Amino acid sequence: MAVDRHLWTKEFDLAYRPSWTCPLCSKGRLALFKENIKEFETTQSKYDYQQDYWDPSFYKAHFCATMKCDNLICGETVVVSGTVKWEDLPFGDPNFPEFGTEVFYCPKYIIPFLHIFPLLKTYPEEINSLIKEAFELYWVNNFSCANMIRAILEKVLEEQKITKGTLFERIQTFCNDKPDLKEYLEAIRHIGNSASHREKEIADSDLLSGFELLEFCLSKIYNLVPSNIQKSANELTNKYKNKK
Ligand SMILES: [Zn+2]
Repeated sequence: MAVDRHLWTKEFDLAYRPSWTCPLCSKGRLALFKENIKEFETTQSKYDYQQDYWDPSFYKAHFCATMKCDNLICGETVVVSGTVKWEDLPFGDPNFPEFGTEVFYCPKYIIPFLHIFPLLKTYPEEINSLIKEAFELYWVNNFSCANMIRAILEKVLEEQKITKGTLFERIQTFCNDKPDLKEYLEAIRHIGNSASHREKEIADSDLLSGFELLEFCLSKIYNLVPSNIQKSANELTNKYKNKK
């Protein structure tokens, strides 16, 4: 249930390209090959390259790429676009480092959207629809994504027929029956409030924590028992229980 921070980092290089799960079949991995990346240097970057002040950090480009699911039965194609940057990074002996330029790809739009945690059919359709929007916004804008995570919480409470009062009051009412969730729901409320007021930057890792809390709370609220677990329990009981 933990969200893998390394997997959802918003930049990658070709040595450590992401191993995202296919959003269609949820089984295959999306493979990215260098020949499927197209890069377009910006006009400003080309201008900067001619100037005395230029260093690799001035290089800027846009990219688009296709990734393909390695599950042969699926073969879904995912399109990624975003920006490219160069950074001079040290390597070799830490006391006498050499520097080399690394190329980083920073995704901004991914179609179809990737599942940062599994969308389950047992969640109400409206909730899944908002989660999908939050997954899309994760790459685009952190404030909007945090707001969407808060909107999901509001929708869950509405779906639980708790509609009166502020969000804080609705959480208190809801948690009369589920006190163990209170601090998690409150944390989601806080990140959403902070984003609404733009009080401080919202870090990527905080959004991933928000997703982690959301997934945990959803699993508790919708009391998810995997269907295979129930089936196994029924089968064993019917087969082995003492029928006297
Ligand atoms: Zn697939």
